[in-house]
Amino acid sequence: MEMTLAETGQKPTIVWMRNDLRLDDNAAIHAAVSKGSDVICVYILEQDEALRAPGGASRWWLDKSLKSLRSDIAELGGKLICRKGKARDIIPKLVEETGADGVYWGRRYDKAGRDIDTELKAELKDNDIEAKSFNTTLLTEPWTVETKDGGYYKVFTPYWRAVRDVYTPPTALARPTALKGQGIDGERIEDWGLHPEKPDWSTGFEEWWMPGEDGAKERLADFLDQDLRTYDEMRNRPDRDGTSGLSPHLHFGEIGPAQVWRAVKSRIDAGLKEDTSAWSFLSEVVWREFSYVLLYHNPDMDWENYNRKFDDMPWKSDKRVFKAWTDGKTGYPVVDAGMRQLWESGWMHNRVRMIVASFLTKHLLIHWRDGEAWFWDTLVDADPASNTSGWQWVAGSGADASPYFRIFNPITQGEKFDKTGAYVRKWCPELKNLPDKYLHAPWKADDQTLAKAGVSLGETYPRPIIDHAEGRERALNAWETLKKRQDAA
Ligand SMILES: Cc1cc2nc3c(=O)[nH]c(=O)nc-3n(C[C@H](O)[C@H](O)[C@H](O)COP(=O)(O)OP(=O)(O)OC[C@H]3O[C@@H](n4cnc5c(N)ncnc54)[C@H](O)[C@@H]3O)c2cc1C
Repeated sequence: MEMTLAETGQKPTIVWMRNDLRLDDNAAIHAAVSKGSDVICVYILEQDEALRAPGGASRWWLDKSLKSLRSDIAELGGKLICRKGKARDIIPKLVEETGADGVYWGRRYDKAGRDIDTELKAELKDNDIEAKSFNTTLLTEPWTVETKDGGYYKVFTPYWRAVRDVYTPPTALARPTALKGQGIDGERIEDWGLHPEKPDWSTGFEEWWMPGEDGAKERLADFLDQDLRTYDEMRNRPDRDGTSGLSPHLHFGEIGPAQVWRAVKSRIDAGLKEDTSAWSFLSEVVWREFSYVLLYHNPDMDWENYNRKFDDMPWKSDKRVFKAWTDGKTGYPVVDAGMRQLWESGWMHNRVRMIVASFLTKHLLIHWRDGEAWFWDTLVDADPASNTSGWQWVAGSGADASPYFRIFNPITQGEKFDKTGAYVRKWCPELKNLPDKYLHAPWKADDQTLAKAGVSLGETYPRPIIDHAEGRERALNAWETLKKRQDAA
């Protein structure tokens, strides 16, 4: 009879899984398996004041993703050990309980997370426990691709070119064939209350998403078959389902960017005619990497302006106006459609994210931090790096940012990118019978047209919360005030 590894006297290795909730191509798991020891997978719902708590939509996703991982691990004879609390208490305790001689994990790049990991690593090593970390979530880690003078890239295009020139994905790592964990106590994911109750606002989410490794693979396969070829042309069209929808899967690490890169690159290498489109898609994947570069080198960027000149910006604080924005009741159809898509599905199209963010920070003069916080709570892909850099990019305070004085016109943006009107008609159904001509500016329609479409402004659909020209001028004045304050300083 063959002996189990435990019977050989070899000690198990713990793999602490974080935002890499997958078994395929996972460097931490693969290294542990390669060691030849039993591998115990652990997830910790971290309760640490230093860490930013996940928002509601992220918790919804995490619940499903963990359950999916749990069943994938069970299929391999193992058990996902779930615990809640501080990692610095839980990991040493688990080492003791299991007799493990090593703890492996995938690296994270936010300052608070890094500090926890560094401290833990030192403590484990002091106790003669092997502590090793791996890159499980990025193509290239934030310190690897440097400018000629040894700094980090602050502008996207040269960064993208540099990554494209140097990056070759490592060989894909095999999925483990056996895992451990039976006999160790864990908490039930069901007891963590990650799924919202009273009220359950997530009822629409399931229609859109299948969290977990299988869901991620399916999403990628569908995208490669259907939309990769037209990505370049369609990626800015919220009325067409032309992007991958991979962002939450990438955020939770149910699929890694290297897997995405290999899959797309193999199509290019096989002679894909629409290779420009494929490269354009890969460059977007690298935007995510760029956000991590920025966050890593500017650890307080999730709260402070990257460009500190913006500290003097005369932001306004207006709860009523902010609520109209979050509720999708600004009276600008493309803005409202975006905010409702976000609420109902936990996701918003990138072009519309830019439009609603511009509207909030410019027309409404509300700090990007408030918008970022709302996105943090409501996006299933809420990500410390991409969300912060997305908001700061639009607000003008970020690296390589769109200048503050570039103010999106929500009417023409709607007309240009929601060309068919399908996007507004889907998310603001009370406007669906309006003719295309008025769909993005219902207040311009005459009474008869409105009546015929069943629209009553101020009743069935709001009037604009601010006049576009007025909002634009106010934003430009604020910009001038900022400049004056700076000159005076
Ligand atoms: C204000 C604002 C906030 C944002 N907040 C987030 C966030 O919290 N989480 C998040 O993942 N993305 C965020 N983005 C970036 C982008 O909107 C989403 O990544 C994208 O819409 C996800 O859809 P997709 O997967 O279909 O993208 P695709 O177009 O299919 O792109 C493929 C992948 O590339 C990455 N990507 C694409 N565009 C960007 C970008 N501009 N910045 C960083 N990564 C990108 C994503 O991982 C995405 O899944 C934000 C953008 C803005 C303007």
